Amino acid sequence: MKSAVAYARVSSKKQEDTGFSIPAQIELFKQYSEKSGIKIVKFFVENKTGGKVGRKVYNEMLAFIKQHNIKDVFVEKTDRIYRNFKDYVVLEDLSQNFNLVVHLVKERVILSKDSTSHEKLVHGFKVLLAKNYLDNLREEVLKGREEKIREGGYPHKAPVGYYNDTDKSTKKKEIFVDKEKSVFVKRLFDLYSTGAYSVDELRTKLFNEGFNHKGKPYSKPRLLFVLKDVFYIGKMKIKGIVYDGKHTPIIDIETFNRVQKMFNQSKARSHDVEFAYTGLLTCGHCGCQMTAELKKGKYVYYHCTGKRGGNCKQDYIREEKLDEIFLQLIDRLPNPEDGLFEEIKKAVKEIRQIKSEYEETSMEEIQKQINRLQNRLDNLYTDKLDGRISQEYWQEKHNEWYNEKDRLIEKLKVISNTSRTFDEGSNLLENFCKYARQEFLKANGKKKRAILKMLGSNFSYKDKEVSIVLTSVFNYLLNNRFVKYGARELPTLELHKIIFTLKDLLSQEFISQIKLLDVA
Ligand SMILES: [Zn+2]
Repeated sequence: MKSAVAYARVSSKKQEDTGFSIPAQIELFKQYSEKSGIKIVKFFVENKTGGKVGRKVYNEMLAFIKQHNIKDVFVEKTDRIYRNFKDYVVLEDLSQNFNLVVHLVKERVILSKDSTSHEKLVHGFKVLLAKNYLDNLREEVLKGREEKIREGGYPHKAPVGYYNDTDKSTKKKEIFVDKEKSVFVKRLFDLYSTGAYSVDELRTKLFNEGFNHKGKPYSKPRLLFVLKDVFYIGKMKIKGIVYDGKHTPIIDIETFNRVQKMFNQSKARSHDVEFAYTGLLTCGHCGCQMTAELKKGKYVYYHCTGKRGGNCKQDYIREEKLDEIFLQLIDRLPNPEDGLFEEIKKAVKEIRQIKSEYEETSMEEIQKQINRLQNRLDNLYTDKLDGRISQEYWQEKHNEWYNEKDRLIEKLKVISNTSRTFDEGSNLLENFCKYARQEFLKANGKKKRAILKMLGSNFSYKDKEVSIVLTSVFNYLLNNRFVKYGARELPTLELHKIIFTLKDLLSQEFISQIKLLDVA
C-alpha cells in the first residue's frame, strides 16, 4: 500500500478563528485516502495564513517527505499549498526529481512527472492566480490601513481618556472622548506643566481624586507615556510618522509643548529637590549647581557643589537670606495702585486697532501658505500611491511639510487668540503683581520656585547677591518706555514694536502658567 502525507491549512484569519476549515479538510483527506487506497502516514497542519513568512510546518513536511521517501502529497486545492512562488518551485522540483505526486483533492487533479502538459499548464495558471490574489490582498490590507490613517482614523486601541466605539450614525469605528477620564488627563497635563509636581506626586494626587485603572493608580511609565503622547493634541504618531487625527483633542498645543519643555528641564536636573532653591540656583563663581545642607537641625545653607574644583564652597548663604532677596525682587513689581495697569489697559485699547489690521493681513497670508502645503502633501501622497516616489522620499518630505504646516497652524492660532489674550493676560498680570508677595510668604518650596520661575530664569548666586534674567513680561514691565510714558506719547514705529512684544509677553503660555500658580 502506498503512503502519503496530507497537508492542511487555513486560508484566512477568519477561518483560522472559527476553526472550521481544518477538520473539514482532514475529513476530505480521509475519504480520499479510502477511495484511492493510499494510506496517510502523517497530517501536517499549518495554522498560519499563507501570507506570512516562515512556514515551519511546510518545511517540516518537505523534510519528512525526503526522509521517509514519500511519493504522495494530499492538499485540498491549489492555493492551500502554493502560497508563494518559491514553494511552487520547490514542489515542482520535488515532483520532477523525486517523482512526487501532488493530489489536489478538491479539484480532483493529480500532478506528477507524468501529468500531461495541459494539466501542468492549468495548474501553473492556478498557482499564479493564487499568488496574485495573495499579493493583492496584502496590498489591499496595507492600503486600507494607510487610507484609514490618512483620513485620521487610529488603527489601535484608544489611549487613556478616550475609548473605541462604533459611531451609531455612520456604523464606523471611531474614537470618542471618555468624559470622566479626560478630565483627569487634562489635569495631569495642567498640573505637570506648572513644574510644581513630579509624576510620582501626581500619580498619588490624581488617584486620590479618583483617577484609577481598575481601582489601582496608573503606573508611572503609563503616565509618562500619556504626557508625551501627541494623540492628546489631536495627532497620531504611527511608526514614527505624525498624522492629523480626526479625534477631538483634549490638550491644547501650548500646554502640551510646555509639558515637553518640562521633561527636557527635568532631564537636566540630576536629582529631585528637597530644599526650596536647589535646582534653581547656580554658583556665580563657577556655574555649578548650588546645593543645600541642613545645619544644627534648623539652618539651611546653600553652597556650590564645587564639582569644578573652585574654592567657592566658602561662599555660602542661608535660606532666609535668599528669601529676603527674592522678596525684594517681588517688591520691585509694579504696584497696581500707582496706575500702571490703567496705563497698560489704555494702551491695549489704542493699539488694538493697529493690531487687528496687522492680524487680518498676516492671517490671510498664513492661511494661503497652509493651503499650499496641504496641496503639496496631497500630491505627494498620490505620487507615492502611483509609485512615482519611494517610501523613504515620501516619509522625509511628508515629515518636513507636515511640520511646517503644523508650525503655521500654531502661529495662526496664536494670532487669533491674541485679542482675548491681551485682556485676560493683563488682568492676570495685575493680580500677580498684587498678590505675589503674600503668596510667596506662605508658599512651600515648590511653589516658591514656581513663582520665581514666572519672574525669571538663570538664577545665579555670588557674594551674597543673586542675579536673574527676567522673563520678558517682567523685564518689559520694569524697563520699558511704554510703561513710563504711556502709549499715547510714543511714535507709531515704537507702538508697532510693542504689539509684537505684548503678544509674546501675554502669551497663552504665560497666562496658563500664571493661572495655575493660583495667585490671588
Ligand atoms: Zn562654584
